[in-house]
Amino acid sequence: ELYNKVLELKGNIRVFCRCRPLNGEEVASGASMAIDFEAAKDGELTVKSNGLAKKIFKFDSVFSPQAGQVDVFEDTAPFATSVLDGYNVCIFAYGQTGTGKTFTMEGTEEARGVNYRTLEALFHIIDERQSTFWYEISVSVLEVYNEQIRDLLACDSGLSTKRLEVKQVGEGMHPVPGLVEAQVNNMKEVWEVLRTGSNGRAVGSTSANEHSSRSHCIHCVMVKGENLLNGECTRSKLWLIDLAGSERIAKTEVQGERLKETQNINKSLSALGDVISALATKSPHIPFRNSKLTHLLQDSLGGDSKTLMFVQISPNENDLSETLCSLNFASRVR
Ligand code: ADP
Ligand code: MG
Repeated sequence: ELYNKVLELKGNIRVFCRCRPLNGEEVASGASMAIDFEAAKDGELTVKSNGLAKKIFKFDSVFSPQAGQVDVFEDTAPFATSVLDGYNVCIFAYGQTGTGKTFTMEGTEEARGVNYRTLEALFHIIDERQSTFWYEISVSVLEVYNEQIRDLLACDSGLSTKRLEVKQVGEGMHPVPGLVEAQVNNMKEVWEVLRTGSNGRAVGSTSANEHSSRSHCIHCVMVKGENLLNGECTRSKLWLIDLAGSERIAKTEVQGERLKETQNINKSLSALGDVISALATKSPHIPFRNSKLTHLLQDSLGGDSKTLMFVQISPNENDLSETLCSLNFASRVR
């Protein structure tokens, strides 16, 4: 069964690449495909330009435009089991705006994404294990925008105007004191929390879509577990992160607030790349403190934690230079 697959680890960092389909407009305008998925089964994809093969990239899994949410979750499900076994897990979606980061993580009501499916898997496994384990699950939803943390579950109460900071705290405690942690007992409660979180995200922003492409949207699932046979307790965290768009914006094109936003996004995405590649190469110094995001995730990246990065790409030849940037970023962390 899906949920009982054990995560076979070749190291604790995995990279999956997912490509969105051409959209109606692109099809209508005769856009050409720059990616070839013939070798996708072996985790390879070929980047083409002017019809010629240019470069081959290899990942732990490759999802072509035809792959559905269920296919993607099949390879993601083992991470849910790991969280209940006491491991910290971080799942990221990285890529240019419009490549399907939110589609992969949040999904839609008809095609639910990784966030919902992972929580569903957690409750499924908890049910299966109920004679030997006791678990308690709570969820926080936050956003990092311009290097500031906003609590998306505290929006109704006006608490979100409070500046939240990352603190060094004891084992198993939340690194952001004051953050709302909503305990959830079933999927109906999860759905409500996820909805409150997305509503909080749009508050006060002129265009919800634009704002969401420039901030990191973060779900943190905290798990307390107890083995009823030997009394052993575990605490672990699962982070589900829809990153800000990775597209490069020329400094000459933006000014003022927009320039600061762009610099903050570049800073946090490159800090994330630096941390993951330092972990992958077992570097003695891991630069966690260079951004809010990596600081926040400090106790869940590295050690025996598990990391999954979805690199989202566009198949359109017009997006090739951004696609190559994303694929190169991903190859660096792998
Ligand atoms: P991002 O969050 O990276 O900016 P979105 O998730 O908003 O991108 O995706 C952009 C558009 O493409 C959305 O309309 C989304 O539904 C669609 N889309 C993305 N990936 C897929 C996919 N694999 N299958 C079908 N539609 C997709
Ligand atoms: Mg998005």
